[in-house]
Amino acid sequence: MTEALSGAYQTLLAAIEAVEPRIAQATRDELKDQRASLKLIASENYASLPVLATMGTWFSDKYAEGTVGHRFYAGCQNVDTVEAVAAEHARELFGADYAYAQPHSGIYANVTAYWAILAHHIEMPALKEFGAKNVSELSEADWETLRARFGNQRLLGMSLDAGGHLTHGFRPNISGKMFHQRSYGTDPSTGLLDYDALAKQAAEFKPLIIVAGYSAYPRRVNFAKMREIADSVGAVLMVDMAHFAGLVAGKVFQGDEDPVPFADVVTTTTHKSLRGPRGGLILAKQDYASDVDRGCPMVLGGPLPHVMAAKAVALAEAKTEAFQDYAHRVVDNARALAEGLMKRGGKLVTDGTDNHIVLLDVTSFGLTGRQAESALLDAGIVANRNSVPNDPNGAWYTSGVRLGTPALTTRGFTTSDMDEVAAMITDVLKATEPTVKDGKPGKAKYEMPAGLAQGTQERAGKLLDSHPLYPGLEL
Ligand code: PLP
Repeated sequence: MTEALSGAYQTLLAAIEAVEPRIAQATRDELKDQRASLKLIASENYASLPVLATMGTWFSDKYAEGTVGHRFYAGCQNVDTVEAVAAEHARELFGADYAYAQPHSGIYANVTAYWAILAHHIEMPALKEFGAKNVSELSEADWETLRARFGNQRLLGMSLDAGGHLTHGFRPNISGKMFHQRSYGTDPSTGLLDYDALAKQAAEFKPLIIVAGYSAYPRRVNFAKMREIADSVGAVLMVDMAHFAGLVAGKVFQGDEDPVPFADVVTTTTHKSLRGPRGGLILAKQDYASDVDRGCPMVLGGPLPHVMAAKAVALAEAKTEAFQDYAHRVVDNARALAEGLMKRGGKLVTDGTDNHIVLLDVTSFGLTGRQAESALLDAGIVANRNSVPNDPNGAWYTSGVRLGTPALTTRGFTTSDMDEVAAMITDVLKATEPTVKDGKPGKAKYEMPAGLAQGTQERAGKLLDSHPLYPGLEL
């Protein structure tokens, strides 16, 4: 099949070339670059060619505001099929009551979920109290009362430097502006979530919503405990599983580690460990279904039917045994990477991992996250700098580098390959030094011994050649 797809991509690129050759060239170059680098960005992956191909169709041309069977545009019968199939796969894969496939990205999924929860808990009861069917029937005074109630809601989410996401209540983000927010962190001595401290904080703050989930926490979360904490203060439990949805789908996270049975609303992206197209998804308990269904037009514009179609294809892939095997290998590879780094002197936040993320504290190499990120990139290793808890270098320079295994595992990397990757990373970081100016080490510039970057690229090239990306695809 790859050979036939190869021909199809060549024909498509020739057609693009005839219109704008720079875009055709950039598309070829991007594949070349992705093939030639060790991608350790924890939030990235390589979607399958069927998933990628599904996005390039005339579904892109269709407006379909509304929901399945209830659209504000004519001629949406095929979009209805697409959205219904995507939602059906999502419900079955995750065992959810309800699924909404429209969010354009993870941030849109979260903002849609927040407004749905507010509609459920604030707007609907207020309409009942004011004797109105919808907001257009409210008097000016009732409308003002309703607006004031919205602005005072409390949200408790994981702090950014403990591993939470911008949308979990970070002040500069809309989530920090539309809610009265507080953050929970991790235990300063272990870097682990402290459920007792969180329960205490929730009891004091009394949030409407507790958000669980993370972007840079290298451990598993006990969602049964999270549910207990939410219930103890009457809060809604929302889980953002954007990072680990693939591990839930692949049955690595089961029982108390599976958020779906415990959360009222679960949001996710579809493009990270889930290995689908760039997009978002919401799962919810039946009670919240009609509120989430209002996502478009409440928060979202017209859905992206070509992306919903690709979500359906990716979710179908995620139901297979091959995907379950993949998800387990993602975690085995992360553990091998963590062990490889630690045995070579690397210091890890929480001293290890049990998901797909490894958070390396690079201050033990005398570097900032920014210096380490750049030195690794020179050597052909792509990873992003990241804060560590209570980071002394702040959110720009940082003290950490976040590493993730979903992408390399898709290429077929094994645990012994990950040990070699750990060796390359530590070799580069041990040999890199901050540039010293006026007797003081800087935070951005660095020096590397001549030939190190080139030598590491060659080492990486050997591993990459033995696990080709999209084998058979020639452009
Ligand atoms: N939620 C979490 C936990 C994330 O890590 C991210 C992205 O990094 C998002 C939401 C936002 O996703 P997107 O970039 O698709 O808007």
